Amino acid sequence: MSAPRYAVFGQPIAHSQSPRIQSAFGKAHGIAVDYRAIEASPEGFPAALEAFAADGGVGANVTLPHKEAAFALCTTTTSRAQRAGAVNTLLRKGERWHGDNTDGIGLVRDLTGRHGLDLRGRRVLLLGAGGAARGVAPALLDAGILELVVVNRSPERADALVDAMSEPGRAISAYWEALREQGDFELIINATSAARGEGTGFNLPLSLINSMTTAVDLNYGEAAIPFLAWARAAGCRNSFDGLGMLVEQAAESFQQWHGMRPETDAIYAELRGRDALLVTA
Ligand code: NDP
Repeated sequence: MSAPRYAVFGQPIAHSQSPRIQSAFGKAHGIAVDYRAIEASPEGFPAALEAFAADGGVGANVTLPHKEAAFALCTTTTSRAQRAGAVNTLLRKGERWHGDNTDGIGLVRDLTGRHGLDLRGRRVLLLGAGGAARGVAPALLDAGILELVVVNRSPERADALVDAMSEPGRAISAYWEALREQGDFELIINATSAARGEGTGFNLPLSLINSMTTAVDLNYGEAAIPFLAWARAAGCRNSFDGLGMLVEQAAESFQQWHGMRPETDAIYAELRGRDALLVTA
């Protein structure tokens, strides 16, 4: 029987750090992990996943733009994947896929563990309502934040995210144009891909910031620069990118596939130090 295979599916996928991270986790545990990056178009993703399973694929990560499609392809899903409506971790069970979403727990572990934040009782502003935002919103609420305010370029997606959380009063949506009326926040999270497209500048009201505000961009590398530059210029005492979240969500996936919890500091430091583009915080 061939060795079990693992992969990350996305488009584009060439830039993905996931093979490097999973391989490092494997080495630390004495496992030779066969984990590859597989480029798949939205139309080609279901067939690519099927071919992967037929060829010994037992676990996969899923990134842009396949997280919702992966959710739909799963026979069973965890409750956090159901609340997110998106799957980033697939586990083969017999002839079927089981889906989970580790993005949220990855962010919370990075915030509370690596960065030592206490999320309990905090007001949190979430910019964006795409797949990443839907993954992190339930985890933030579960971590005990006081209130989650969600704003998105397309306001109906922010409304839908809040509705899916079923936490009336704790999760609310607001208009981007009316951010000035929202008061200040202890945590501001950029979960948009704005810096990857047109109009890359962030020009948010200074009234969002207080003396305790931490700003986090789920992006890392160059894509995190515009938001973090705004946050630092606005006076945020603490700001960092999504590299730690990336490593933590990967650790959670590794644990589900291999039954062992990997240590994350070494690969985090390696990725942070290896590439100047990743050093944004
Ligand atoms: P989606 O495509 O699902 O969502 C994109 C989001 O960005 C939407 O809210 C969209 O708004 C918003 N957006 C896009 N362009 C603009 C713009 N010009 N101005 C304002 N808002 C804009 O992507 P994901 O949610 O999956 O990912 C978002 C980012 O988070 C990505 O860049 C991704 O790399 C990063 N990420 C990082 C992870 C990590 O581990 N560190 C994990 C997952 C994601 P609208 O709805 O109006 O289109």
